[in-house]
Amino acid sequence: MTTAVNIENLNRVYGRGETAVNALQNLNLKIDAGQFMALKGRSGSGKTTLLNCLGGLDKPTSGKITIYDQVVSEMSERDVTNWRKKEVGFVFQAFGLLPSLSAYENIELMLRITGLGYRARRERAMSCLEKVGLGPWSTHRPFELSGGQNQRVAIARAIANEPKIILADEATGELDTNTAVEILTLFQQIAKTENVTILLATHDHLVDEFVDEVLQLQDGKIVS
Ligand code: ADP
Ligand code: MG
Repeated sequence: MTTAVNIENLNRVYGRGETAVNALQNLNLKIDAGQFMALKGRSGSGKTTLLNCLGGLDKPTSGKITIYDQVVSEMSERDVTNWRKKEVGFVFQAFGLLPSLSAYENIELMLRITGLGYRARRERAMSCLEKVGLGPWSTHRPFELSGGQNQRVAIARAIANEPKIILADEATGELDTNTAVEILTLFQQIAKTENVTILLATHDHLVDEFVDEVLQLQDGKIVS
């Protein structure tokens, strides 16, 4: 098994002195490639901070994060941005789609940063929409789609650059139970068929039966 993520002695402290918050405290963790992991814990337990550190959106105060062969925690701002574009897909609770663009255009826009030519972008964007079951909806804009469909577009966009890791923060948080189940099934399927490692932060009990492993965070520490 390839190790996708290796976290060593990770700390993230916000602020200084008396008011300092230890958002992550001495985390150690290895995740194999192709795993679908849930990151659970109450609000304030450090889930978002961990995802942000993994995706290079935030910098650890100390410790080391290696994703595949890249030491993300030691990269310059510029290197981390380039690495992120190629290797990381993000999915958020509020979908983060551009409202004036169609499903297809939202994905195609993302693909422009990869330097792919027009035809390759078109093919990739359509194939990603088909993977999430939205082929026939490619010309619809976000307001013409349901919450679940919008999240599918966001997932199609996240897999468009063929990332090695997908970071999904509360990605089922806005969805009703049935729709959440559909999205969880889709993540499960993507982890298997694309061999992508997926980390989903959530407090949803539904996730347990869909993921390979549940990681419980409490006050910035892994408790199980
Ligand atoms: P979760 O996503 O599990 O709700 P967070 O990672 O957002 O948890 O927050 C973990 C802790 O870090 C909380 O105590 C929160 O208040 C604090 N925190 C998060 N971001 C910041 C920030 N930018 N500045 C100061 N404190 C922060
Ligand atoms: Mg959060």
